[in-house]
Amino acid sequence: MLSCLPAKFKIVRDSNRCIKCKVCVQQCAYEVHNYDAEEDEIFSEEKSCVSCHRCVNMCPTQALTVVVYQLDYVPNANWKKLDIMRLTEQAESGGVLLTGMGNDLAYPIIWDNIVLNASQVTNPSIDPLREPMELRTYFGRKTNTVEIEMGENGIPQLKTKLGLIKLEVPIIFSAMSFGSISYNVHRALAQSAKDLGILYNTGEGGLHKDFYQYGSNTIVQCASGRFGIDEYYLQQGVAIEIKIGQGAKPGIGGHLPGEKVDERISMTRMIPTGTDAISPAPHHDIYSIEDLRQLIFSIKEVTYYKMPVGVKIAAVHNVAAISSGIARAGADFITIDGFRGGTGAAPTMIRDNVGIPIEFAIASVDDRLRQEGIRNEITLVASGGFRNSADIVKAIALGADVIAIGTPALIACGCHVCQNCYSGKCNWGIATQDPQLTKRVNPDIATRRLKNLIRAWSLEIKEFLGAMGVNAIESLRGNREHLRGIGLSRNYLDILGIKEVGR
Ligand code: SF4
Ligand code: SF4
Repeated sequence: MLSCLPAKFKIVRDSNRCIKCKVCVQQCAYEVHNYDAEEDEIFSEEKSCVSCHRCVNMCPTQALTVVVYQLDYVPNANWKKLDIMRLTEQAESGGVLLTGMGNDLAYPIIWDNIVLNASQVTNPSIDPLREPMELRTYFGRKTNTVEIEMGENGIPQLKTKLGLIKLEVPIIFSAMSFGSISYNVHRALAQSAKDLGILYNTGEGGLHKDFYQYGSNTIVQCASGRFGIDEYYLQQGVAIEIKIGQGAKPGIGGHLPGEKVDERISMTRMIPTGTDAISPAPHHDIYSIEDLRQLIFSIKEVTYYKMPVGVKIAAVHNVAAISSGIARAGADFITIDGFRGGTGAAPTMIRDNVGIPIEFAIASVDDRLRQEGIRNEITLVASGGFRNSADIVKAIALGADVIAIGTPALIACGCHVCQNCYSGKCNWGIATQDPQLTKRVNPDIATRRLKNLIRAWSLEIKEFLGAMGVNAIESLRGNREHLRGIGLSRNYLDILGIKEVGR
Protein backbone atom coordinates (compact mmCIF):
# COMPACT_ATOMS: atom_id res chain seq x y z
CA MET A 1 0.00 0.00 0.00
CA LEU A 2 1.25 3.46 -0.86
CA SER A 3 2.28 5.29 2.30
CA CYS A 4 0.66 8.67 2.92
CA LEU A 5 3.53 9.68 5.18
CA PRO A 6 5.73 12.41 3.75
CA ALA A 7 9.50 12.29 4.24
CA LYS A 8 10.69 13.93 7.45
CA PHE A 9 13.98 15.04 5.97
CA LYS A 10 15.24 16.20 2.61
CA ILE A 11 18.67 15.27 1.30
CA VAL A 12 20.43 17.95 -0.69
CA ARG A 13 23.25 16.56 -2.85
CA ASP A 14 25.51 19.13 -4.50
CA SER A 15 26.18 17.63 -7.95
CA ASN A 16 29.17 19.94 -8.41
CA ARG A 17 30.84 18.37 -5.38
CA CYS A 18 29.67 14.74 -5.57
CA ILE A 19 32.37 12.48 -7.03
CA LYS A 20 30.12 9.39 -6.92
CA CYS A 21 32.46 7.60 -4.57
CA LYS A 22 29.47 5.69 -3.06
CA VAL A 23 30.63 6.25 0.51
CA CYS A 24 27.13 7.40 1.47
CA VAL A 25 25.67 4.25 -0.09
CA GLN A 26 27.95 2.05 2.03
CA GLN A 27 27.51 4.06 5.22
CA CYS A 28 23.72 4.15 5.48
CA ALA A 29 22.13 1.14 7.20
CA TYR A 30 18.69 2.57 6.33
CA GLU A 31 19.57 2.21 2.62
CA VAL A 32 18.72 5.83 1.90
CA HIS A 33 21.38 6.21 -0.79
CA ASN A 34 21.42 3.93 -3.81
CA TYR A 35 23.72 3.81 -6.79
CA ASP A 36 22.13 3.25 -10.21
CA ALA A 37 24.93 1.79 -12.37
CA GLU A 38 22.98 2.21 -15.59
CA GLU A 39 22.46 5.90 -15.03
CA ASP A 40 25.72 6.29 -13.11
CA GLU A 41 23.75 8.29 -10.57
CA ILE A 42 23.19 8.20 -6.83
CA PHE A 43 19.58 8.52 -5.71
CA SER A 44 18.18 9.10 -2.24
CA GLU A 45 15.13 7.42 -0.73
CA GLU A 46 14.35 10.33 1.57
CA LYS A 47 11.45 8.67 3.38
CA SER A 48 13.93 6.30 5.02
CA CYS A 49 16.22 9.09 6.25
CA VAL A 50 16.36 9.60 10.05
CA SER A 51 18.82 12.51 9.89
CA CYS A 52 21.61 10.72 11.75
CA HIS A 53 24.17 12.65 9.66
CA ARG A 54 26.43 9.65 9.10
CA CYS A 55 26.53 10.21 5.32
CA VAL A 56 27.02 13.96 5.76
CA ASN A 57 29.99 13.40 8.06
CA MET A 58 31.59 10.68 5.95
CA CYS A 59 31.18 12.35 2.54
CA PRO A 60 34.73 13.23 1.47
CA THR A 61 33.65 16.30 -0.49
CA GLN A 62 30.97 17.77 1.80
CA ALA A 63 28.46 17.25 -1.00
CA LEU A 64 25.56 16.35 1.31
CA THR A 65 23.23 18.28 3.56
CA VAL A 66 20.14 16.99 5.38
CA VAL A 67 17.40 19.49 6.15
CA VAL A 68 13.91 19.20 7.62
CA TYR A 69 11.43 18.48 4.82
CA GLN A 70 9.14 21.52 4.81
CA LEU A 71 5.70 20.30 3.95
CA ASP A 72 3.23 22.60 5.64
CA TYR A 73 -0.25 21.37 6.43
CA VAL A 74 -3.22 23.78 6.54
CA PRO A 75 -2.68 25.85 9.71
CA ASN A 76 -4.75 24.35 12.49
CA ALA A 77 -4.27 25.13 16.17
CA ASN A 78 -5.61 21.69 17.13
CA TRP A 79 -4.24 19.35 14.45
CA LYS A 80 -0.56 20.11 14.25
CA LYS A 81 1.74 18.52 11.68
CA LEU A 82 3.32 16.14 14.19
CA ASP A 83 -0.08 14.88 15.40
CA ILE A 84 -1.29 14.24 11.84
CA MET A 85 1.94 12.44 10.92
CA ARG A 86 1.87 10.25 14.02
CA LEU A 87 -1.78 9.37 13.53
CA THR A 88 -1.13 8.50 9.86
CA GLU A 89 1.78 6.30 10.87
CA GLN A 90 -0.42 4.39 13.30
CA ALA A 91 -3.19 4.04 10.73
CA GLU A 92 -0.61 2.37 8.48
CA SER A 93 1.20 0.26 11.09
CA GLY A 94 -1.50 -0.50 13.65
CA GLY A 95 1.17 -0.41 16.31
CA VAL A 96 2.45 1.60 19.26
CA LEU A 97 4.68 4.47 18.16
CA LEU A 98 8.23 3.86 19.26
CA THR A 99 11.09 6.25 19.79
CA GLY A 100 14.52 6.50 21.34
CA MET A 101 16.26 9.05 23.55
CA GLY A 102 14.42 11.41 25.90
CA ASN A 103 11.29 13.55 25.87
CA ASP A 104 11.70 16.20 23.14
CA LEU A 105 8.52 18.21 23.65
CA ALA A 106 8.80 21.90 24.45
CA TYR A 107 8.15 21.60 28.19
CA PRO A 108 9.94 24.33 30.15
CA ILE A 109 13.59 23.53 30.75
CA ILE A 110 13.89 24.92 34.26
CA TRP A 111 17.68 24.91 34.22
CA ASP A 112 17.46 27.75 31.65
CA ASN A 113 15.40 29.79 34.12
CA ILE A 114 17.88 29.48 36.96
CA VAL A 115 21.01 31.61 37.22
CA LEU A 116 24.01 31.15 39.47
CA ASN A 117 25.63 33.59 41.82
CA ALA A 118 29.15 35.06 41.67
CA SER A 119 31.19 36.67 44.44
CA GLN A 120 31.86 40.40 44.26
CA VAL A 121 33.97 42.29 46.85
CA THR A 122 33.12 40.25 49.96
CA ASN A 123 33.77 36.51 50.10
CA PRO A 124 36.07 36.95 47.09
CA SER A 125 36.05 34.64 44.15
CA ILE A 126 38.75 32.00 43.81
CA ASP A 127 40.96 31.46 40.78
CA PRO A 128 40.87 27.72 40.04
CA LEU A 129 44.10 27.98 38.06
CA ARG A 130 45.99 29.06 41.18
CA GLU A 131 44.06 27.57 44.08
CA PRO A 132 43.13 23.92 44.66
CA MET A 133 39.46 23.18 43.97
CA GLU A 134 37.88 20.01 45.30
CA LEU A 135 35.41 18.08 43.16
CA ARG A 136 35.82 14.79 45.04
CA THR A 137 32.49 13.33 46.10
CA TYR A 138 31.63 10.35 48.29
CA PHE A 139 28.97 7.91 47.16
CA GLY A 140 26.92 5.72 49.49
CA ARG A 141 25.38 5.88 52.96
CA LYS A 142 26.83 8.52 55.21
CA THR A 143 26.87 7.85 58.92
CA ASN A 144 25.34 10.19 61.50
CA THR A 145 28.36 10.00 63.77
CA VAL A 146 32.00 9.05 63.39
CA GLU A 147 34.38 7.67 65.97
CA ILE A 148 37.92 8.97 66.31
CA GLU A 149 40.78 7.05 67.88
CA MET A 150 44.30 8.07 68.77
CA GLY A 151 46.90 6.77 66.37
CA GLU A 152 50.28 5.38 67.39
CA ASN A 153 52.00 8.66 66.64
CA GLY A 154 49.52 10.59 68.78
CA ILE A 155 47.60 11.84 65.74
CA PRO A 156 43.82 11.26 65.89
CA GLN A 157 42.48 8.89 63.24
CA LEU A 158 39.06 8.02 61.93
CA LYS A 159 37.94 4.75 63.51
CA THR A 160 34.57 4.46 61.76
CA LYS A 161 34.69 2.50 58.51
CA LEU A 162 32.72 4.72 56.14
CA GLY A 163 32.35 2.24 53.27
CA LEU A 164 31.91 5.06 50.80
CA ILE A 165 32.99 5.08 47.17
CA LYS A 166 35.26 7.94 46.21
CA LEU A 167 34.38 9.73 42.97
CA GLU A 168 36.93 12.17 41.59
CA VAL A 169 34.13 14.27 40.11
CA PRO A 170 30.41 14.28 40.98
CA ILE A 171 29.48 12.75 37.62
CA ILE A 172 28.86 9.11 36.75
CA PHE A 173 27.61 7.35 33.61
CA SER A 174 23.93 6.35 33.59
CA ALA A 175 22.77 2.77 33.26
CA MET A 176 23.09 1.59 29.65
CA SER A 177 23.01 -2.14 29.10
CA PHE A 178 25.20 -4.15 26.77
CA GLY A 179 22.41 -5.02 24.38
CA SER A 180 20.87 -1.59 24.19
CA ILE A 181 24.32 -0.22 23.31
CA SER A 182 27.16 -1.98 21.55
CA TYR A 183 30.04 -3.83 23.15
CA ASN A 184 32.55 -1.18 22.04
CA VAL A 185 30.58 1.68 23.60
CA HIS A 186 30.03 -0.29 26.80
CA ARG A 187 33.76 -0.91 26.95
CA ALA A 188 34.55 2.77 26.37
CA LEU A 189 32.22 3.75 29.23
CA ALA A 190 33.85 1.22 31.55
CA GLN A 191 37.40 2.16 30.60
CA SER A 192 36.83 5.90 30.87
CA ALA A 193 35.07 5.46 34.24
CA LYS A 194 38.13 3.60 35.46
CA ASP A 195 40.56 6.20 34.12
CA LEU A 196 38.50 9.09 35.51
CA GLY A 197 37.89 7.56 38.96
CA ILE A 198 34.11 7.54 38.54
CA LEU A 199 31.43 4.86 37.97
CA TYR A 200 29.58 3.40 35.04
CA ASN A 201 26.44 1.26 35.27
CA THR A 202 25.82 -2.14 33.64
CA GLY A 203 22.16 -1.39 33.06
CA GLU A 204 19.78 -4.31 33.17
CA GLY A 205 21.67 -6.56 30.82
CA GLY A 206 24.07 -8.42 33.10
CA LEU A 207 27.84 -8.14 32.94
CA HIS A 208 29.97 -9.61 30.18
CA LYS A 209 33.04 -11.31 31.63
CA ASP A 210 35.32 -8.96 29.67
CA PHE A 211 34.08 -6.16 31.93
CA TYR A 212 34.85 -7.84 35.26
CA GLN A 213 38.19 -6.02 35.22
CA TYR A 214 36.34 -2.70 35.68
CA GLY A 215 34.60 -3.93 38.85
CA SER A 216 35.83 -1.16 41.13
CA ASN A 217 34.19 1.37 38.80
CA THR A 218 30.99 -0.56 38.18
CA ILE A 219 27.45 -0.22 39.46
CA VAL A 220 25.70 -3.52 38.72
CA GLN A 221 22.00 -3.21 38.13
CA CYS A 222 19.20 -5.49 39.23
CA ALA A 223 16.09 -4.82 37.14
CA SER A 224 12.74 -6.56 36.85
CA GLY A 225 13.90 -9.03 34.17
CA ARG A 226 16.76 -10.14 36.47
CA PHE A 227 18.87 -10.85 33.39
CA GLY A 228 22.34 -12.14 34.10
CA ILE A 229 21.84 -11.89 37.86
CA ASP A 230 23.35 -14.36 40.26
CA GLU A 231 25.40 -14.09 43.42
CA TYR A 232 28.64 -13.83 41.47
CA TYR A 233 27.32 -11.00 39.26
CA LEU A 234 26.18 -8.98 42.26
CA GLN A 235 29.63 -9.24 43.79
CA GLN A 236 31.43 -7.95 40.68
CA GLY A 237 30.76 -4.23 41.14
CA VAL A 238 31.21 -1.73 43.94
CA ALA A 239 27.55 -0.76 44.17
CA ILE A 240 24.23 -2.33 43.23
CA GLU A 241 21.24 -0.49 41.85
CA ILE A 242 17.74 -1.95 41.96
CA LYS A 243 15.98 -0.42 38.98
CA ILE A 244 12.31 0.23 39.60
CA GLY A 245 11.80 2.80 36.87
CA GLN A 246 13.43 5.17 34.41
CA GLY A 247 12.54 8.67 33.31
CA ALA A 248 11.97 7.92 29.63
CA LYS A 249 9.27 5.35 30.32
CA PRO A 250 8.00 5.40 33.91
CA GLY A 251 5.88 2.40 34.76
CA ILE A 252 6.82 0.60 31.56
CA GLY A 253 8.95 -2.51 31.14
CA GLY A 254 11.66 -3.08 28.57
CA HIS A 255 11.98 -5.25 25.49
CA LEU A 256 15.15 -6.28 23.71
CA PRO A 257 14.06 -8.03 20.49
CA GLY A 258 15.38 -11.55 19.90
CA GLU A 259 17.27 -10.53 16.75
CA LYS A 260 19.57 -8.43 18.92
CA VAL A 261 20.27 -11.31 21.33
CA ASP A 262 23.41 -12.76 19.77
CA GLU A 263 25.73 -15.23 21.45
CA ARG A 264 27.59 -12.62 23.51
CA ILE A 265 24.40 -10.98 24.76
CA SER A 266 22.77 -14.34 25.43
CA MET A 267 25.70 -15.32 27.66
CA THR A 268 25.68 -11.95 29.43
CA ARG A 269 21.93 -11.98 30.01
CA MET A 270 21.80 -15.73 30.69
CA ILE A 271 19.03 -16.29 28.13
CA PRO A 272 19.00 -18.40 24.93
CA THR A 273 20.25 -16.80 21.71
CA GLY A 274 17.51 -15.20 19.62
CA THR A 275 14.91 -15.00 22.40
CA ASP A 276 13.22 -11.73 23.31
CA ALA A 277 14.49 -10.24 26.58
CA ILE A 278 11.39 -8.81 28.21
CA SER A 279 11.66 -6.85 31.45
CA PRO A 280 8.24 -6.76 33.15
CA ALA A 281 6.85 -3.39 34.21
CA PRO A 282 6.95 -4.32 37.93
CA HIS A 283 9.35 -6.50 39.88
CA HIS A 284 7.12 -9.47 40.56
CA ASP A 285 8.41 -9.72 44.11
CA ILE A 286 7.93 -6.04 45.01
CA TYR A 287 4.46 -4.73 45.78
CA SER A 288 5.27 -2.58 48.83
CA ILE A 289 8.07 -0.71 50.55
CA GLU A 290 8.46 -3.75 52.82
CA ASP A 291 9.05 -5.96 49.76
CA LEU A 292 11.62 -3.47 48.48
CA ARG A 293 13.33 -3.51 51.87
CA GLN A 294 13.40 -7.32 51.68
CA LEU A 295 15.20 -7.20 48.32
CA ILE A 296 17.62 -4.48 49.47
CA PHE A 297 18.63 -6.57 52.47
CA SER A 298 18.73 -9.83 50.52
CA ILE A 299 21.24 -8.18 48.20
CA LYS A 300 23.17 -6.76 51.15
CA GLU A 301 23.31 -10.23 52.69
CA VAL A 302 24.62 -11.81 49.53
CA THR A 303 27.26 -9.11 49.15
CA TYR A 304 28.26 -9.22 52.85
CA TYR A 305 27.15 -5.63 53.53
CA LYS A 306 30.27 -4.48 51.72
CA MET A 307 28.75 -2.23 49.10
CA PRO A 308 26.04 0.40 48.79
CA VAL A 309 22.69 -0.81 47.51
CA GLY A 310 20.53 1.83 45.85
CA VAL A 311 17.21 2.16 44.08
CA LYS A 312 16.52 3.90 40.79
CA ILE A 313 13.09 5.42 40.17
CA ALA A 314 11.57 7.68 37.56
CA ALA A 315 10.71 11.23 38.60
CA VAL A 316 6.92 11.10 39.00
CA HIS A 317 4.22 12.69 41.15
CA ASN A 318 4.91 12.08 44.86
CA VAL A 319 8.57 11.43 44.14
CA ALA A 320 9.49 12.93 47.52
CA ALA A 321 7.28 10.52 49.50
CA ILE A 322 8.47 7.57 47.42
CA SER A 323 12.10 8.56 48.01
CA SER A 324 11.51 8.86 51.72
CA GLY A 325 10.13 5.31 51.73
CA ILE A 326 13.13 4.07 49.77
CA ALA A 327 15.58 5.73 52.16
CA ARG A 328 13.74 4.22 55.13
CA ALA A 329 13.77 0.83 53.41
CA GLY A 330 17.54 0.84 53.80
CA ALA A 331 18.76 2.12 50.42
CA ASP A 332 22.17 3.76 50.49
CA PHE A 333 21.57 5.81 47.37
CA ILE A 334 18.56 6.85 45.35
CA THR A 335 18.78 7.55 41.63
CA ILE A 336 16.01 9.77 40.31
CA ASP A 337 15.62 9.94 36.56
CA GLY A 338 13.77 12.92 35.08
CA PHE A 339 11.46 12.71 32.09
CA ARG A 340 14.10 13.91 29.65
CA GLY A 341 16.21 10.83 30.36
CA GLY A 342 17.21 8.83 27.30
CA THR A 343 16.46 5.23 26.44
CA GLY A 344 17.05 2.78 23.63
CA ALA A 345 13.33 2.31 23.01
CA ALA A 346 10.15 3.72 24.53
CA PRO A 347 6.55 4.17 23.47
CA THR A 348 6.48 7.76 22.18
CA MET A 349 3.27 8.69 24.00
CA ILE A 350 4.63 7.45 27.35
CA ARG A 351 7.97 9.18 26.86
CA ASP A 352 6.34 12.48 26.06
CA ASN A 353 3.49 12.51 28.57
CA VAL A 354 4.54 10.68 31.73
CA GLY A 355 6.86 11.84 34.48
CA ILE A 356 8.16 15.19 35.69
CA PRO A 357 11.28 17.30 35.08
CA ILE A 358 14.29 16.40 37.21
CA GLU A 359 14.64 19.98 38.51
CA PHE A 360 11.43 19.73 40.59
CA ALA A 361 12.20 16.18 41.66
CA ILE A 362 15.62 17.09 43.10
CA ALA A 363 14.23 20.05 45.04
CA SER A 364 11.25 18.21 46.50
CA VAL A 365 13.18 15.05 47.41
CA ASP A 366 16.00 17.02 49.03
CA ASP A 367 13.43 19.08 51.00
CA ARG A 368 11.50 16.05 52.19
CA LEU A 369 14.56 14.10 53.30
CA ARG A 370 15.89 17.15 55.13
CA GLN A 371 12.57 17.70 56.90
CA GLU A 372 12.64 14.07 58.01
CA GLY A 373 16.26 14.35 59.16
CA ILE A 374 17.48 11.56 56.89
CA ARG A 375 18.99 13.52 53.98
CA ASN A 376 22.54 12.88 55.14
CA GLU A 377 21.99 9.12 55.15
CA ILE A 378 21.68 8.63 51.42
CA THR A 379 23.41 9.77 48.26
CA LEU A 380 21.00 11.44 45.86
CA VAL A 381 21.86 10.75 42.23
CA ALA A 382 20.01 12.84 39.64
CA SER A 383 19.76 12.04 35.95
CA GLY A 384 17.66 12.80 32.92
CA GLY A 385 18.33 15.65 30.55
CA PHE A 386 21.62 17.11 31.77
CA ARG A 387 23.22 18.96 28.87
CA ASN A 388 26.25 20.81 30.20
CA SER A 389 28.34 21.69 33.25
CA ALA A 390 26.02 24.57 34.23
CA ASP A 391 23.05 22.17 34.58
CA ILE A 392 25.21 20.01 36.83
CA VAL A 393 26.28 22.88 39.09
CA LYS A 394 22.66 24.05 39.41
CA ALA A 395 21.48 20.52 40.24
CA ILE A 396 24.07 20.15 42.98
CA ALA A 397 23.19 23.54 44.44
CA LEU A 398 19.56 22.42 44.36
CA GLY A 399 20.36 19.31 46.40
CA ALA A 400 21.76 16.47 44.27
CA ASP A 401 24.98 14.73 45.30
CA VAL A 402 25.92 13.12 42.02
CA ILE A 403 24.76 13.54 38.42
CA ALA A 404 24.42 10.58 36.08
CA ILE A 405 24.74 11.28 32.36
CA GLY A 406 23.67 9.01 29.52
CA THR A 407 22.82 10.97 26.37
CA PRO A 408 25.82 13.35 26.76
CA ALA A 409 28.10 10.32 27.01
CA LEU A 410 26.62 8.84 23.83
CA ILE A 411 26.93 12.17 22.01
CA ALA A 412 30.61 12.17 23.02
CA CYS A 413 30.86 8.73 21.34
CA GLY A 414 29.32 10.04 18.11
CA CYS A 415 25.52 9.96 18.64
CA HIS A 416 23.61 12.64 16.71
CA VAL A 417 20.37 12.21 18.73
CA CYS A 418 18.33 11.02 15.75
CA GLN A 419 16.08 9.14 18.23
CA ASN A 420 16.06 5.98 16.13
CA CYS A 421 17.91 3.75 18.60
CA TYR A 422 15.01 1.25 18.71
CA SER A 423 15.58 0.35 15.03
CA GLY A 424 18.85 -1.46 15.76
CA LYS A 425 20.39 0.29 12.74
CA CYS A 426 22.34 3.03 14.50
CA ASN A 427 24.72 4.24 11.80
CA TRP A 428 27.13 5.47 14.46
CA GLY A 429 27.58 1.94 15.84
CA ILE A 430 26.19 2.85 19.26
CA ALA A 431 22.64 1.53 19.71
CA THR A 432 23.11 -1.57 17.58
CA GLN A 433 24.52 -5.08 17.67
CA ASP A 434 25.09 -5.33 13.90
CA PRO A 435 28.80 -6.24 13.58
CA GLN A 436 29.10 -4.11 10.42
CA LEU A 437 27.93 -1.07 12.40
CA THR A 438 29.44 -1.70 15.84
CA LYS A 439 32.96 -1.70 14.40
CA ARG A 440 32.45 1.96 13.51
CA VAL A 441 33.13 2.82 17.16
CA ASN A 442 36.78 2.53 18.09
CA PRO A 443 36.63 1.98 21.86
CA ASP A 444 39.97 3.70 22.42
CA ILE A 445 38.87 6.83 20.59
CA ALA A 446 35.47 6.76 22.33
CA THR A 447 37.26 6.43 25.69
CA ARG A 448 39.41 9.45 24.91
CA ARG A 449 36.37 11.49 23.92
CA LEU A 450 34.47 10.54 27.08
CA LYS A 451 37.47 11.47 29.21
CA ASN A 452 37.79 14.77 27.35
CA LEU A 453 34.12 15.54 28.02
CA ILE A 454 34.36 14.89 31.76
CA ARG A 455 37.63 16.78 31.98
CA ALA A 456 36.14 19.77 30.14
CA TRP A 457 33.06 19.81 32.38
CA SER A 458 35.23 19.43 35.49
CA LEU A 459 37.24 22.51 34.48
CA GLU A 460 34.03 24.46 33.93
CA ILE A 461 32.57 23.30 37.26
CA LYS A 462 35.73 24.54 38.97
CA GLU A 463 35.28 27.90 37.23
CA PHE A 464 31.69 28.12 38.52
CA LEU A 465 32.79 27.21 42.03
CA GLY A 466 35.63 29.71 41.93
CA ALA A 467 33.29 32.45 40.74
CA MET A 468 30.99 31.73 43.69
CA GLY A 469 33.91 31.76 46.13
CA VAL A 470 33.43 28.09 46.94
CA ASN A 471 36.45 25.80 46.91
CA ALA A 472 34.78 22.40 47.30
CA ILE A 473 31.74 20.88 45.59
CA GLU A 474 30.64 19.53 49.01
CA SER A 475 30.14 23.15 50.14
CA LEU A 476 27.81 23.85 47.23
CA ARG A 477 25.55 20.85 47.81
CA GLY A 478 22.00 21.96 48.58
CA ASN A 479 23.10 25.59 48.95
CA ARG A 480 20.18 27.16 47.12
CA GLU A 481 21.30 30.66 48.12
CA HIS A 482 23.56 30.42 45.10
CA LEU A 483 20.54 30.06 42.81
CA ARG A 484 17.99 32.60 41.58
CA GLY A 485 14.99 32.05 39.34
CA ILE A 486 14.26 34.19 36.29
CA GLY A 487 10.90 34.05 34.50
CA LEU A 488 9.53 31.44 36.91
CA SER A 489 6.12 31.60 38.58
CA ARG A 490 5.78 32.02 42.35
CA ASN A 491 4.67 28.39 42.59
CA TYR A 492 7.70 27.13 40.70
CA LEU A 493 10.02 29.22 42.87
CA ASP A 494 8.39 27.81 46.00
CA ILE A 495 8.77 24.21 44.84
CA LEU A 496 12.39 24.84 43.89
CA GLY A 497 12.99 26.70 47.16
CA ILE A 498 14.84 29.54 45.46
CA LYS A 499 14.43 33.30 45.33
CA GLU A 500 13.77 35.28 42.18
CA VAL A 501 16.51 37.40 40.59
CA GLY A 502 16.97 40.81 42.20
CA ARG A 503 16.56 39.47 45.72
S1 SF4 B 1 29.64 10.28 -0.10
FE1 SF4 B 1 29.45 12.36 -0.93
S2 SF4 B 1 30.81 12.35 -2.71
FE2 SF4 B 1 30.50 10.21 -2.17
S3 SF4 B 1 28.73 9.58 -3.43
FE3 SF4 B 1 27.86 10.24 -1.48
S4 SF4 B 1 27.38 12.41 -1.76
FE4 SF4 B 1 28.76 11.83 -3.46
S1 SF4 C 1 22.51 6.20 19.55
FE1 SF4 C 1 22.46 6.07 17.29
S2 SF4 C 1 20.31 5.64 16.78
FE2 SF4 C 1 20.35 6.39 18.91
S3 SF4 C 1 20.01 8.60 18.73
FE3 SF4 C 1 22.23 8.28 18.75
S4 SF4 C 1 22.81 8.19 16.57
FE4 SF4 C 1 20.58 7.89 16.67
